[in-house]
Amino acid sequence: MTLPYAPRFAFYDGKLQRGSSTSSFQTIDPATAEPTANIHTTTPAAIDAAIASAQKAFPAWSATPAIERARILQRAAALLRARNDDLARIETRDTGKPFSETSTVDVVTGADVLEYFANMVGGGGMNGETTQLRPDAWVYTTKNSLGVCAGIGAWNYPIQIALWKSAPCLAAGNCMVYKPSEFTPLHSTVLAEIYAEAGVPAGVFNVIQGGGEVGAYLTQHPSIAKVSFTGQVSTGAKVAGSAAGGMKYVTMELGGKSPCIILPDADIDQAVDGAMMANFFSTGQVCTNGTRVFVPETIKAEFEKRLLEKVQHIRAGDVLDSNTNFGPLVSKPHYEKVLSYIRHGIQQDKAKLLCGGPEKPTWLSSHYDKSYANGYWVQPTIFTNCTDDMKIVQEEIFGPVMSILSYKTIDEVVARANATKMGLAAGVFTNNLNLAHQVVAKLEAGITWINTWGESPAEMSVGGWKMSGVGVENGRKGLEAWVKNKSTLVEMGGAVPTVFAKL
Ligand code: NAD
Repeated sequence: MTLPYAPRFAFYDGKLQRGSSTSSFQTIDPATAEPTANIHTTTPAAIDAAIASAQKAFPAWSATPAIERARILQRAAALLRARNDDLARIETRDTGKPFSETSTVDVVTGADVLEYFANMVGGGGMNGETTQLRPDAWVYTTKNSLGVCAGIGAWNYPIQIALWKSAPCLAAGNCMVYKPSEFTPLHSTVLAEIYAEAGVPAGVFNVIQGGGEVGAYLTQHPSIAKVSFTGQVSTGAKVAGSAAGGMKYVTMELGGKSPCIILPDADIDQAVDGAMMANFFSTGQVCTNGTRVFVPETIKAEFEKRLLEKVQHIRAGDVLDSNTNFGPLVSKPHYEKVLSYIRHGIQQDKAKLLCGGPEKPTWLSSHYDKSYANGYWVQPTIFTNCTDDMKIVQEEIFGPVMSILSYKTIDEVVARANATKMGLAAGVFTNNLNLAHQVVAKLEAGITWINTWGESPAEMSVGGWKMSGVGVENGRKGLEAWVKNKSTLVEMGGAVPTVFAKL
């Protein structure tokens, strides 16, 4: 069978490495469940070779003036933008996300971050600080590249995640060995080729392919200085544990169960739009989703009425059609996981099903091309009258499943919003801006929004609190995660402080 995409191999030493594997697996188009490409699992010996290629490239790349690194990375950002639609089609085939999303968000937000960090280091972002201690003594600091870093990606924003990791990593003078999710690897070698075309030297950005065992081998490797990981909390705990054994730097971008709080005076239409974005964008496969929607008892009926009207605007269909705004779930295991949560919500949690459910969407037979019949399509699902103890309210589902919870007082909703071991995102909808800031200040989450949901621009540092992560990506603080500090105290007065003076 001829697959639509070329096989994917490892990429290191500046080229595709066709001899880097002894086994392979297939990636699947989630819309149709048809295979799209053979992916060749990188062997341990080839992972060693990829790391060695990065080690070889590191001295020259880290010594390259930051402004020159910036020029090269800006060229890569321009190439990404010029090829936006081709790259977006690859992402759509790999993830199932509609082209209307991948062509406007995924590649664009990746290129933005690349440009942002290139501009930052080109504009003096690698400079340290100087502190005058005394007239004849000062302290200066320098930012130093870490070395060879590992990037491990999740499947929901493949190229964006690859860029959010590699952009600050490379800008700061490091080299990267990147492993995409085994479910969505198609972008990885295309990105490596774009970097090479832009002038990134061989060995600076490398790709290895495979699942958890490949990631685990990379993470524990003694030559890796830092691990930047995006994925589930449970995997993140394993990866952070393994990295801790080698005292490696880590950034952990993990899961969430975020509260979306509608305050009593909110503009209901705006709040409904926010709740829709916080649950159904990317078919609910967004880490920052606001899946616990807290609505005051006083406006719950009106909120639900308008929500059900808005759900009619969800258009599933041909994922390459720019009018489609809702795709399938990413993979069969994930599809089964999301369906099991929906069934649990109905049967065990006994939440009230407002719309959706576990049945195959009826549009599969009526509106879709027949080839979609085996794809991982689910219905957007809304539960109401939910309570805090329900499994669907407590655990990350990572699908288009909204839980509506009602509340009476602000203190109550803040306490309930915080009653989770996760702390990725949170948001508030209200016209009372004083109250908005007061509530946001009490929410235990690293990413918060007021009267909007989901936007994550290059300028905004994002990262989870509690079990949702360690460290941040993007924004000014994003560069700090890819450098190590050296402080130097300079004494010009000639007197070394000593307890060993002659009495
Ligand atoms: P996952 O944890 O199953 O896999 C993530 C990556 O880790 C994959 O590349 C996988 O191959 C690799 N991996 C698995 N076991 C490993 C091990 N032992 N050592 C090293 N690597 C290993 O996550 P997923 O299902 O791909 O992604 C969905 C999750 O990602 C959700 O929980 C979501 O919330 C989270 N996510 C978080 C953010 C964020 O910024 N906080 C962004 C996107 C997704």
